[in-house]
Amino acid sequence: MSQIILPGATVGVLGSGQLGRMFAIAARRMGYRVHTLSPEDDTPTGQVADVEINASYDDLDAVRDFARRVDVVTFEFENVPAATAAAAADGAPVRPDGAVLHITQHRLREKTFLKSAGFPLTPFAAVRSLDELRQAAARLGLPAVLKTAGWGYDGKGQIKLEQVEQIESAWQALNTDEAVLEAWVDFLGEASVVAARGLDGSLADYGAIANVHRHHILDVSVAPAPLGPAVTREAVAIAHAVLEALNVVGVLCVEFFVTRSGKLLINELAPRPHNSGHLTFDASLTSQFEQQLRAICGLPLGSTELLRPAAMANLLGDVWQQQEPNWAGLCARPNIKLHLYGKAQPRPGRKMGHLTALAEDADAALRQVLAARDSLSAPRPLG
Ligand code: AMP
Repeated sequence: MSQIILPGATVGVLGSGQLGRMFAIAARRMGYRVHTLSPEDDTPTGQVADVEINASYDDLDAVRDFARRVDVVTFEFENVPAATAAAAADGAPVRPDGAVLHITQHRLREKTFLKSAGFPLTPFAAVRSLDELRQAAARLGLPAVLKTAGWGYDGKGQIKLEQVEQIESAWQALNTDEAVLEAWVDFLGEASVVAARGLDGSLADYGAIANVHRHHILDVSVAPAPLGPAVTREAVAIAHAVLEALNVVGVLCVEFFVTRSGKLLINELAPRPHNSGHLTFDASLTSQFEQQLRAICGLPLGSTELLRPAAMANLLGDVWQQQEPNWAGLCARPNIKLHLYGKAQPRPGRKMGHLTALAEDADAALRQVLAARDSLSAPRPLG
């Protein structure tokens, strides 16, 4: 039996946010049908999918039924229970498989795996009680960051510890029985490598992308990252090795801290297309979403050639707070591409969309994307 899932087949996506939406757009463009399952209705993914199923991830009968109606299952949200991935696997291949989810949805498991496989990462300690936190803080030193072990993303469930006096209140505030204390990294910058591994083990990557976070949420990404060839090569080699070690079929993003001495430390893994790879939608021959589709369908991976240097700026709900953003003004800017995710409520901190700028070099793309984003909420006359 051929392992290739050809155009015309149906792809199932667990989760229904913007990552699933952009994946569905790429899949539909190539003639696939898309089904999505999540506990919500009228979702970013559901709006562009063929079928939107509203069910809890714990409703294993619904998950099995969903998987039986598709040819392959993937996910855009890694925090689904292991039992959900296992139930989906009863109906269709799940790619990447549940074991990848199991490791990457839990910081402690992820860090333990990376450390035992010899990957460079921030010093850390497992913390399961206030006493253990005190010992870990003494060993790693302060400042340090206390993070919940499970279900964390975009800085949720993180507290920076600056002083010993904070330890007890931080432990109470985190309100968990399992956490990780991480040494603070006084980094030069942050970067990521989005890479893909096909069903046949072939690898592709988008080089290094430079990232800036604000309030723990990705704010801006720039490609190519100004890291120099040696550090870029090393980042890419580490990312490839991580995909191989985890036996990933699909796209995975490795986020790095780049220290002042040019050392790379893995911060975390995302076993799916990643916000820092959104610029590939406009700037690369094959986007990270199409690459995910190709990988999980057993197709050859596409060229990751960067057509032009690019920068991406996230649009959080904050941009909507004063007035409806100036979309017409934005569209007058020739190098800017607008992506909105179809979310009705622009709450502060919520990812509503992003902008991509393409320019002659990465610095120009960065300047242009920031100016474009500022222009959205700049005061303007009525009418
Ligand atoms: P995370 O959710 O763990 O990726 O953290 C979100 C962001 O918080 C990172 O991208 C960094 O900007 C910052 N951060 C997290 N952990 C550390 C650390 N150990 N040292 C310095 N900054 C950190």
